[in-house]
Amino acid sequence: MVDASPTLPAPALDQLRRSFHGDVITPADGSYDDARRLWNALHDRRPAAIVRPRDPSEVATAICFGRDHDLEITVRSGGHSLAGLTGRAGGLVVDLSAMRGVEVDPERRTARANGGALLGELDVAAQAHGLVCPVGVVGHTGVAGLTLGGGVGRLQRQFGLTIDNLAAVELVTADGRLVRTSETEEPDLFWGMRGAGWNFGIATAFELRLHPFGPDLHRGILVFPATEIQAAWDVFRDYAPHAPDAVSLIFGIDRAGPDAGYPDELIGRPIAYIAYNHSGAAGSVERDTAGLHVGPKPAMSVIGSRPYLDVQTAHDLAFDWGHRSFIAGFNADDVRPEALGELVEVVAGAPGAGTFSITALGGAIGRAAEEGTAYAGRAAVFDLSADAAWSDAALDDANRDWVRRAMAVVEPDATVGRYANEISDVGPEETRLIYGDAKLARLAALKRTWDADNVFHVNHNVAPAAAWVTRAPAG
Ligand SMILES: Cc1cc2nc3c(=O)[nH]c(=O)nc-3n(C[C@H](O)[C@H](O)[C@H](O)COP(=O)(O)OP(=O)(O)OC[C@H]3O[C@@H](n4cnc5c(N)ncnc54)[C@H](O)[C@@H]3O)c2cc1C
Repeated sequence: MVDASPTLPAPALDQLRRSFHGDVITPADGSYDDARRLWNALHDRRPAAIVRPRDPSEVATAICFGRDHDLEITVRSGGHSLAGLTGRAGGLVVDLSAMRGVEVDPERRTARANGGALLGELDVAAQAHGLVCPVGVVGHTGVAGLTLGGGVGRLQRQFGLTIDNLAAVELVTADGRLVRTSETEEPDLFWGMRGAGWNFGIATAFELRLHPFGPDLHRGILVFPATEIQAAWDVFRDYAPHAPDAVSLIFGIDRAGPDAGYPDELIGRPIAYIAYNHSGAAGSVERDTAGLHVGPKPAMSVIGSRPYLDVQTAHDLAFDWGHRSFIAGFNADDVRPEALGELVEVVAGAPGAGTFSITALGGAIGRAAEEGTAYAGRAAVFDLSADAAWSDAALDDANRDWVRRAMAVVEPDATVGRYANEISDVGPEETRLIYGDAKLARLAALKRTWDADNVFHVNHNVAPAAAWVTRAPAG
């Protein structure tokens, strides 16, 4: 949907430009259309202004300006919000793309990522010292948005979520203060930053713990015709809950496209696959992954080692800016066998590129204390998600409906917790399902302390009013 064209009074803009050295971009500027573009082309936002602060003090200036002029403030780092949360019609975008950069301290095994840094910068800077931080799987995603929600990827079963490797965050709060938070500095706020962090301010720097790793990552994909889905799933389901931490794995249902090297007989048909990464010692790969090779003979398999940095950028083009995208997901401990056949039918009939994924959680993710962070659902065995990508705007509703239909098939399997970063629907009920009632009440109390006016509300929003007040009273 295209937002209406907004304007800001010239004197207000002049005042901002006098106190701000970074870019101030309005609809009158030639760069406006490029600057307002989001990764997800489903969302076409026309903000009144986009500002690009160069340091935390300019972030504070931007927040004050937005508040003084009653503008809805949105924050943008990598611009990859699947829900299109990085722009509002007539609002103010605080775009941190002029605050990129990552510095690594190899002695302390830490990285300092600026608020606008991208995952690829962190990967490259850490690998230069034989180190790694577990992040996501596409290099142009923002460190900020990913980390503030949790951070899931190829190494998390071994090293924990990105938030489990977060040592400190610096943020500018709604009243323009620069605050540092860690286990020992404003520890309550640090709890909330790890899973619901967009709610409390604009993060200007992240300190992350790194681990020795690399340079190679062993990986494999086993592809089966959908007719073998039950046997392939039995293998995955038996293996995943007891998998060694070094193995991350996904069970996927997809349609075989013409460009991915699938055998001719699979092209255009639904397939099931098991994809895995092994991040441990090369000598233990065979032993650790043997349990994945005990099922039906795959129609196609690709197995081998590649430099980790190549793997981390291998999907950057396929997931380039400009797709229309919609996604939903929730946690589960199992999937009922009868759901599999239905999922195959749903995937076969997807109006765009539609994928259903079952990601194994557990390992270091599951061993971290549930109460230690705002992220909810540590005990879950699987994350289930349906993901649609397409390019024709006429198919927007059909693709949204498709994602909801796919998730409805597995709704009876849902357990507590949803990963905020993989949810395109936004609203109070979604927020409640992400965190659960108890965590939401604790987050609401934090919100009253740090952002009582709900300045930062364009996100999976925790309303400052207590959870039981924001929901309709029963009876
Ligand atoms: C191609 C692609 C691949 C992905 N892969 C993964 C993956 O492997 N693992 C995973 O866990 N997730 C993944 N995601 C989801 C991703 O984590 C979220 O979309 C995330 O919000 C993106 O962060 P961003 O900074 O790029 O987004 P933005 O759109 O810039 O921001 C997203 C949200 O974070 C807030 N925000 C951004 N920066 C700040 C800041 N500095 N301070 C406070 N709030 C801020 C924004 O207000 C917004 O609500 C992927 C998404 C895409 C599009």
